[in-house]
Amino acid sequence: MLNARYTRLIFVLLLAVPLLTSWGVNSLIVYYLVVILAYVSLLVYGSYFIQSDFFLRSLWKGSKDRKEIAITFDDGPMKEFTSRLLDLLKSEKVPAAFFLIGKNIEGNEAVVKRMMDEGHVIGNHSYSHTYWFSLNKSEAMYNDMKKCDEEIFRATGRKPKFFRPPYGVINPMVKKAIEKGNYDCVGWSIRTYDTNAKSAVQVLQKSLKNLSNGDIILFHDWGKFTIGILSDFIKEVRARGFEIVGVDELLKTKAYY
Ligand SMILES: [Zn+2]
Repeated sequence: MLNARYTRLIFVLLLAVPLLTSWGVNSLIVYYLVVILAYVSLLVYGSYFIQSDFFLRSLWKGSKDRKEIAITFDDGPMKEFTSRLLDLLKSEKVPAAFFLIGKNIEGNEAVVKRMMDEGHVIGNHSYSHTYWFSLNKSEAMYNDMKKCDEEIFRATGRKPKFFRPPYGVINPMVKKAIEKGNYDCVGWSIRTYDTNAKSAVQVLQKSLKNLSNGDIILFHDWGKFTIGILSDFIKEVRARGFEIVGVDELLKTKAYY
C-alpha cells in the first residue's frame, strides 16, 4: 500500500528526472506542475481517507474470516440523543462503541457511566473536536486528547486506548500525537453520512451497502435519522447472518489501559 514515506521518495526521484533530459523551459514547467499536483493530491487523499493508512496504520476493519461487524457512534455524549440510543441498544442487546468528545462529558457523566455499565466501548474523539484540530501542533493535540482522557476517566474510572481523530483527518502532526499518547487509532470501513443525509432510507442504504465481514460502521449520536433506522439496520444485519460485536472484540484488542 502506498504510504507517506514511499510517496515522498518517489516524489524526490521524479523531481530529479529532468536532470537526465534536455527538455525546454515550457516542458519543465508542465512536468513540475503535474508532479507537484499529483503529490499534493496524494497527501490530501491520505489525510482524508482513514482507510488509506497513508500516514498511520489505523484499525478500520476486523477479520474477513468471521461474520462479525461493529457499530460506532461519534460526537457524544449528547443529552437529547445518547440516552435514547442506549435504550434502543439495550432492548436489542447490541454492543456499540462511542467515541466521545471530552467537552460534552461535563453534565452528562451519568450517561457515560451508563455506556460503560451496559458493556459499550468508550473511545477518545478529542476534547475540543474543533474543525481545525488537525492543523494544531502535535503537542497541543496531545494535550487536547489527554484532556478528553481525563474527562472519560472522571466519569468511568477507565483510561481509553482507542482514539478516533476528529473528521477522520490524519496528517504527520496527528500521527505524532497519537503515537505520543500510545493510542490505537480506530477508523471505519463504512461511512453512513448520517449527519448530512436527506432521508432515513439513504442512511439505511449506505449503512448496509456492501456490508461484509469485519466492517466497522460509522454513525453519529446526532444523526437526524440514525436512531430511526437503527432497529431496521440491526434486523437486516442479523437476517444476513452477521453478529454485531464490540469493536474491541472485532479487532481482538483491549479498549482500555
Ligand atoms: Zn466527530
